[in-house]
Amino acid sequence: MKYRIGQGFDVHQLQEGRECWLGGVLIPHHSGPLGHSDADVLIHAICDALLGAANLGDIGFHFSDKSAEFKNIDSKILLARSADLVRKKGFEIGNIDATLVLEDPKINPHVPAMKKAMSQVLQIPEDDISIKATTNEKMGFIGRNEGVTAHAVALIFSEEPAKEGNFAL
Ligand SMILES: [Zn+2]
Repeated sequence: MKYRIGQGFDVHQLQEGRECWLGGVLIPHHSGPLGHSDADVLIHAICDALLGAANLGDIGFHFSDKSAEFKNIDSKILLARSADLVRKKGFEIGNIDATLVLEDPKINPHVPAMKKAMSQVLQIPEDDISIKATTNEKMGFIGRNEGVTAHAVALIFSEEPAKEGNFAL
């Protein structure tokens, strides 16, 4: 088996009145991430982790924020396309672990719905998707509710056997 890991990071401003899409779920809140797409910062970090694991560049390379095609797009479509790219390169998705960093709203009540949504898009079990959330302890731009960040790692694998002679004995 061949294993690869990838890391992703994303940041968006929070704006009053914007819909608050996080992890593929619309969360009732007075403000939401600002961006060209639906600005789902968590999904964007996961896309980058998946693409990075397969050494396929990043989300901006594949889905330009200058393109009308992606204006206000549901980020679940970007997640599905990222998973397609990874699978076309011969990999399967192992697991994902992600962390949202924001002050409000509370995320934990929405985690089961996020896992369900992303499990359906990625076609992997909910148990292979971990979503955590923390605050920034009221410090900096996150602490002032001006923005939100997300971090993610993803493991992908292929059945390709390790080549003989790869290991120094
Ligand atoms: Zn983003």
